[in-house]
Amino acid sequence: MSMLQVQGLKVFHGCVQALRGLTFRAERGEMIAVLGANGAGKSTLLATISGICSPGEGEIIFEGKSLTRKSPEFIVRQGLSLVPEHRQIFNSLTVLDNLLLGAFHRYRSDKSRVMEDLQRVIEIFPALEGKQKQIAGTMSGGLQQMLAIGRGLMARPKLIMLDEPSIGLAPMVVREIMCALRKLKEDGTTIILVEQNASAALKVADRAIIIERGQVALSGNSSELVSDERVQQAYLGKS
Ligand code: ATP
Repeated sequence: MSMLQVQGLKVFHGCVQALRGLTFRAERGEMIAVLGANGAGKSTLLATISGICSPGEGEIIFEGKSLTRKSPEFIVRQGLSLVPEHRQIFNSLTVLDNLLLGAFHRYRSDKSRVMEDLQRVIEIFPALEGKQKQIAGTMSGGLQQMLAIGRGLMARPKLIMLDEPSIGLAPMVVREIMCALRKLKEDGTTIILVEQNASAALKVADRAIIIERGQVALSGNSSELVSDERVQQAYLGKS
């Protein structure tokens, strides 16, 4: 059985239908990229899996358990974590406090493991080393993105979902972040990576789905999609 099964999701924002019967699966330990133009429904998909949006129809099954219309708190406890678009870190708090907030739901019962997890975040993002007391909002965009992912990791997710982590960042920083995601995957974390930067995402992901108007228009292994003419024209800027 797949780790995550999303079946026939229909989601409305008021009278706008963002997802139109979207179906896909993620296997344990894989990195799957979710590509698509602005407004295709990528953020809505992540928000719905995380319990922030409620689907009108469809089902979300994680490790055999239904997550459909469950609360975000319940969903985080099952081992799914979302790193939202535009980071949404707490600018006026320190790096350490931002990270600890990612573990708030288990901080009391599990304090020593929370400290281990802080260490693990630093191993994955060595650039955050020595920055624990820094005010988050004073850091560069790249470090803030690393912090946002680090905060997501503090929930000890089995599956982490990232919404456009490369947005607005210099190519070198994008490479650093993609390299960190690869490390995470090697450690056994399943990853769903929403990206506008299709070329960077297809380099690291095992598989990708392409969403158009709220449905999966195309899916396959990253290596196949990179050489697909439609993908090259629409998403990789090749004519
Ligand atoms: P982007 O890359 O621009 O974030 P996306 O693929 O993530 O795009 P969504 O943000 O999921 O797409 O949006 C899907 C559709 O739902 C779009 O038509 C968008 O305008 C609409 N939409 C999203 N959020 C809302 C909202 N809060 N109220 C009304 N419509 C919304």
